[in-house]
Amino acid sequence: MKGDNRLDSLKGVGEKTKQIFEKAGIGTLDQLLAYYPRRYDSFEEPIKISELREGETAAVRGCLTAPLSGRHVRGLSILSGVVKDESGRVSVVWFNMPYLRNTIQAGKPRVFRGRVKRKGGQLVLEQPALYEEEAYAALGRRLSPVYALSGNLTNKMIVKAVSQALEERELVREYLPEEIRRRYHLAEYNFALEQIHFPEDSGKLLLARNRLVFDEFFFFLLQLRRLRQSREKEKNAFKIPPSSWVNRILSSLPYELTNAQKKVWKDLEREFQGETAAARLIQGDVGSGKTILAFLALIAAAEAGMQGALMAPTEVLARQHFQSLSRLLEENRLPVRAVLLTGSMKAGERRDAYEKIASGEAAVIVGTHALIQEKVVYQNLALVITDEQHRFGVRQRETLSKKGKTPHTIVMSATPIPRTLAVILYGDLDISVIDEMPASRIPVKTCVVDTGYRKKAYLFLEKEIRLGHQAYVICPMVEESEAMEGENVLDYTKRLREALPEWIQIDFLHGKMKPEEKNQRMERFLRKEIQVLVSTTVIEVGVNVPNATVMMIENAERFGLAQLHQLRGRVGRGKDASYCILVYGTKGKQIEERLSILRDSNDGFEIANRDLKLRGPGDLFGVRQSGMMEFSLADIYADAGLLQKANEAAGELYAEDPGLEREEHRDLRRKFEAIVKNQADSVNL
Ligand code: ADP
Ligand code: MG
Repeated sequence: MKGDNRLDSLKGVGEKTKQIFEKAGIGTLDQLLAYYPRRYDSFEEPIKISELREGETAAVRGCLTAPLSGRHVRGLSILSGVVKDESGRVSVVWFNMPYLRNTIQAGKPRVFRGRVKRKGGQLVLEQPALYEEEAYAALGRRLSPVYALSGNLTNKMIVKAVSQALEERELVREYLPEEIRRRYHLAEYNFALEQIHFPEDSGKLLLARNRLVFDEFFFFLLQLRRLRQSREKEKNAFKIPPSSWVNRILSSLPYELTNAQKKVWKDLEREFQGETAAARLIQGDVGSGKTILAFLALIAAAEAGMQGALMAPTEVLARQHFQSLSRLLEENRLPVRAVLLTGSMKAGERRDAYEKIASGEAAVIVGTHALIQEKVVYQNLALVITDEQHRFGVRQRETLSKKGKTPHTIVMSATPIPRTLAVILYGDLDISVIDEMPASRIPVKTCVVDTGYRKKAYLFLEKEIRLGHQAYVICPMVEESEAMEGENVLDYTKRLREALPEWIQIDFLHGKMKPEEKNQRMERFLRKEIQVLVSTTVIEVGVNVPNATVMMIENAERFGLAQLHQLRGRVGRGKDASYCILVYGTKGKQIEERLSILRDSNDGFEIANRDLKLRGPGDLFGVRQSGMMEFSLADIYADAGLLQKANEAAGELYAEDPGLEREEHRDLRRKFEAIVKNQADSVNL
């Protein structure tokens, strides 16, 4: 395979396997190697059966008392048996693995390793992995990688492919300058790549991770520096004067802007008329009211006869923005034509939108990534706004800006980043913070409970719905999976329909549904035709249904605190008291402690800080904050130290050799260009 980047250059990866990998976004060997484990399993010493505790993952050494017995329930094949050792007995059960029956005999000692559950008052080892005794001992202190799975991809397939790729590939020449590596104590690149996938011990894993996190920050920051350089002297080509339409809207709103919102709007108004184009990050916690500012800016541009675009990370959010903006325009009888552009629109509709955009008939364009496709040609693009910036890369924001001639740029984010870090991460932007919530807002009440509380929670849901309110229930998975335990949207919806009275309409939403279906569901929820929406985290960003007052989250331990805070931000948006019920499926002191941070605070900054204190920097096994910026390994909070270092290193390097043209930076330049190209490819999907 030398030099070959094709996945199917690996032995054992044929057309079918290749497709499975591609579906998960892994199309090349480079992408495969950059598909880092989500966490690691360590193989603990086997314990006595009498020492098994519910909720833990454990290994026991024992024998089956009798051959496994099999049965079928609702199309599911179930194998079960009993394992004993000198201290006691425990049940074991496997789903959909009928072939196991003939591979393990009663009376032969084996190591069974799996999650301990309680079923009908008894402990059960569910879906345990099986090992010969010597094989288990040989695993020793190694940590085994656990990868994120999707579709038909299994952990075994990834492990096999990665280890083969590592073995057969040509070693990469170290590209970081020796001086940087020495100063920041960074491990060699090839070593890091191997150890991040198959760590020999946790010390080496830490070294590997530090190196790769540094790289992620370093290249990100180099890119940012280029951006800043190219932006620095951008003249303001689109002077937008104070707008009478904006004033009309402000006086018609059912609320007054908070002082923080007013201040940000002042900043924007001033910049729109200034000498250089606006380039500003608006940071504000969930519910602080960022959307209205975006609308005001778009309307001011429209009044000045210019075009503006607002890009959102999901279809649901884009549609919602489009609808609220259209309503606002209508209510105020403003002659502004707004169009929607998303990937799920029919070809005809899309063509129609393209035409209106190109002719300039559309003054405001709201949409998803579809806004940055090559086919979209703008007429007089003066303003580009990106909502929920943490879901996009720097590249995508840049691509939208390039659609115009030095337009004003506004990005909005609810990610609470301390100013010192924000200055680094958004180096090319000025920063405004909305540090005040609308006064009418009643903080969401949060409780942290175990699954035993569900009955009560359902009664509570019913009560809220009787009052005319609506509720979300979040599950971590779409459907039942062998690879992972936890509640799933499809089964949960069925169960909830049985648990709640019939007159309550319950339906579901998840990312695997067709965009059109998703939109329809969401609209039915908005129209109150659905009272309880069971959903995955597709609902996480930005959705605004003020009538929803309950957010119940199953397997809350699976989510990062920042993500939970975002989810909770979907309620408490109206005038009524709202509630968040965090249900954890796995017991543990740490889990309760972590979730209680959320119970005790409604402030995104404080939550992030306390989470970090609890996890500590370099926490390898904790729940990562997913979806933060564009990093796959780096965690801006836990790795803040490395971020500072990478910033220092990138700054010095850039000052010395901005184009990376020196001979000794040749490998570095190649790597950098490869990364930039990779990102560009993923933007133009
Ligand atoms: P986010 O900052 O999370 O994007 P939104 O812009 O979606 O928040 O605003 C949340 C809700 O608060 C919306 O229903 C919006 O109409 C409302 N809102 C915005 N500003 C104010 C304000 N100053 N006073 C009262 N309600 C407001
Ligand atoms: Mg928002």
